[in-house]
Formats: sequence, C-alpha cells, structure tokens
Amino acid sequence: MTIVADTYRARRDGWQDEAACRDSDIELFFPTDGERGPLRADRERAAKSVCAACPVRLPCLDYALAYGETHGIWGGLTEEERATERRRRRRAAGG
Ligand code: SF4
Repeated sequence: MTIVADTYRARRDGWQDEAACRDSDIELFFPTDGERGPLRADRERAAKSVCAACPVRLPCLDYALAYGETHGIWGGLTEEERATERRRRRRAAGG
C-alpha cells in the first residue's frame, strides 16, 4: 500500500507515485490507540528509516505541513517534530 497515495487520493499531485512507503504497512506510519513508550519509539524509528531513503521526503513534508496533517509520520517527522518545523518555518518567514 502506498500510504500517502491511497489515503489521500483526492489530493494527488504526482509526487506520491515515488513514495518509498509504497509497499509498507500503513500501521508503521500511524500510531494505534494507546501506543506509547518503547513500542511507539520502535515503530517511529522503523518508519523514519523508510522515509530516510525516500526520494520525495521534502514534498511529503511540505504537503503534510500545508494540509495540517496532525497524525502519523510524514516526511520523516513525527507530529511533534512537524509542529516544531511549522513554527521554525513561520519564524523564518517573519511570521
Ligand atoms: S517521506 Fe515517508 S511518509 Fe512521506 S512518502 Fe516518503 S516514505 Fe512515505
């Protein structure tokens, strides 16, 4: 399954076709209810390792920030890391 392409087909703009997560289990990228601690850390580490080799990591991250995705790993970043990146970009833009 290509996580981004299959989940957000209506918003497709091309880069999703190159996603390294194309054949990954979607559960690798999104937490299950109540997941925390070492289980969450292990899953996130595994997801990030897929993202690290993804040729569309930056477009994926930009997409998640643009659409306010608040759940899961996008562009190699967790929800919390994307919030930090969103603030960093806002500051850099003078906002
Ligand atoms: S950066 Fe990660 S979540 Fe985004 S398309 Fe690539 S592998 Fe999938």
